[in-house]
Amino acid sequence: MNIKHLFHSKKLIYSLEVFPPKKTSSVDTIYNTLLGLRGLPADFISVTYGAGGSDTQKNKTCEIASLIKSEYGIEPVVHLTCVNSSKAEIIQTLEQLKAHRIENILALRGDINPDIKPKHDFQHASDLVTFIKEYDSSFHVSGACYPEGHCDSNSLEEDIEHLKIKVDAGATHLMTQLFFDNDHFYQFMDKVIQAGITVPIEAGIMPITSKSQIERTVSMCGASLPPKFAKIINKYANNPAALKEAGIAYAIEQIIDLISNQVAGIHLYTMNNVEVATKITDSIRNIILSCNQPN
Ligand code: FAD
Repeated sequence: MNIKHLFHSKKLIYSLEVFPPKKTSSVDTIYNTLLGLRGLPADFISVTYGAGGSDTQKNKTCEIASLIKSEYGIEPVVHLTCVNSSKAEIIQTLEQLKAHRIENILALRGDINPDIKPKHDFQHASDLVTFIKEYDSSFHVSGACYPEGHCDSNSLEEDIEHLKIKVDAGATHLMTQLFFDNDHFYQFMDKVIQAGITVPIEAGIMPITSKSQIERTVSMCGASLPPKFAKIINKYANNPAALKEAGIAYAIEQIIDLISNQVAGIHLYTMNNVEVATKITDSIRNIILSCNQPN
């Protein structure tokens, strides 16, 4: 199913993200994660596309998405990066997706890795969006967006101007980078609407469950830590069990606030952690259901 239909039929979308197992592990190692997530009311599950984009990882993304669709009956969205790919390689991937009846793609530029010589067919995610839509307009294309601005941009305003190019190229749904302060999201939404972007935007939420995770996450994606959350992390820094509980509670509070403020969807970065994804989903299950009940 093309996920564009979801946005017409539901008031609130709830989706999950998983990543392929490490390069050295077989795809089978994700079975337990998918089995655990199957009980959750997810409208779709997106599968990341390994940084570096080696052929093994590329095939794993498609293989896992195909499993999600055929074995678990949930719609998959495949992440696809372009900065290190030629047009011929992207065509090969699109054909592979078509062969597996996968219709939904999150079109991304990908991070620029100084150790990998970029290919020059695609500079920005918007180039990939245009290319996919021209190649086969039946693909549904989503894009990424950044409530605090992408780190390569000079300002949030400039980043939103570029986001508009991506949407005009054919991205009809956006998913945000994780953030810990909902005010950043609300301010971003005001600016996005002023810029004439009207496609549904799902808020990306990552539950923080360990001290090492917060350090890695903040340094990788530059999301700022609001004082309230920084205090919580500091207080429980040396008590892993307490920090995990507090991180889950914080994510739930963020989600409930976002839903109360009419967010179009919640995209939960599960980090393949079934226990955490289940705890969060169970805490908001009735809220999700109530949002989608007919009036
Ligand atoms: P772009 O939209 O191209 O933006 C990148 C920068 O270029 C921004 O500063 C933007 O303002 C600027 N820009 C964009 N268009 C133009 C233009 N036309 N002219 C001038 N400047 C422009 N990475 C992975 O490797 N694998 C994944 O699976 C993955 N999944 C992700 C999922 C989500 C929801 C998000 C938010 C990110 C994900 N990423 C993933 C990370 C992403 O690849 C990086 O953040 C990357 O640096 C930017 O990708 P993008 O698609 O947002 O790029």
